[in-house]
Amino acid sequence: MLISIIIPCYNEEQVIAETYKRLTDVMQNLPHKYELIFVNDGSRDNTLAILQNFSKKDQRVKVLSFSRNFGHQAAITAGLNYCNGDYAVTIDGDLQDPPQVILGMLETMKAENANIVYAVRKKRDGEPRWRLIAIKLFYRILNKLSDIHIPVDTGDFRLVDRKVIDQFNALEEKNKYIRGLMYWMGFKQVPFYYDREARFAGETKYPFGKLLKLALTGIFYFSKKPLNIATSLGFVSIVLGLCYVLWALISMIFGFGYAISGWTSTIVLIVFFGGVQLLTIGVLGKYIGNLFDEVKGRPEYIVNEKINFDE
Ligand code: UDP
Ligand code: MG
Repeated sequence: MLISIIIPCYNEEQVIAETYKRLTDVMQNLPHKYELIFVNDGSRDNTLAILQNFSKKDQRVKVLSFSRNFGHQAAITAGLNYCNGDYAVTIDGDLQDPPQVILGMLETMKAENANIVYAVRKKRDGEPRWRLIAIKLFYRILNKLSDIHIPVDTGDFRLVDRKVIDQFNALEEKNKYIRGLMYWMGFKQVPFYYDREARFAGETKYPFGKLLKLALTGIFYFSKKPLNIATSLGFVSIVLGLCYVLWALISMIFGFGYAISGWTSTIVLIVFFGGVQLLTIGVLGKYIGNLFDEVKGRPEYIVNEKINFDE
């Protein structure tokens, strides 16, 4: 039995040596073979050099190095595409997901005869409050809008079996929201609760912009409800508009005098309906933009260098 550990790394020179050490400590004591697939996501620091070094001494270290930064989800995808394991673990490279948790996940997998064991954070250290609040809010919205029901404290720390890996690799969409897709695939999925630690060193590689992009992918790839909401909004504004037309006609016919004054109401109407229209077009545009991206069919990532993978 071979276990593949997939570790996305973006500018992690301060952490990666420790990550390698701790993963090796955990995996060496298991009676299974393993491979550590480090995916270097276009780091601009010494991450790649450090990984190259490990890979020379240890054949179990495999490296996929991207031509530029393609993002965390693309890095995990690449790892799953290239892994040979009967099982694969996707784990962050910053030691927020403690490697020894893998042991518990493997046991749960066996005990429950599951296909997916996903790690759920009982507590999370070292993250600012605004971030936790934003994340909670996002999951609440996502759960409302889509048929995807992901527990709030689930990330991309997950153990999957070969069946799941093969199905995942057969998915054709380019812009992946992996935790949504994993949920969507079905099979037997079991949570595993753990304490998330603070980052070992360095800073988060998920600034607000990237987090928002991931969140929007989650919503717009898994739900068509925003379109329905836009339609309802249009309907409501038509009803409101008709009421106003009626009022305008009556006041003209019966000479209330409102027909000439009315600057305020005009501005209010323009601003209100202008807003509704822009919002609706924006929602439509989001779906068209996603279609545009998917139709182009560009690869999700470009591998510049592969180390220790047999051709
Ligand atoms: N990461 C990546 N590409 C990116 C951003 C992040 O490969 O563009 C990796 C990063 O090196 C880490 C994991 O994804 O191993 C999670 O990122 P991070 O710890 O910065 O996110 P956070 O835990 O703060 O949400
Ligand atoms: Mg982290």
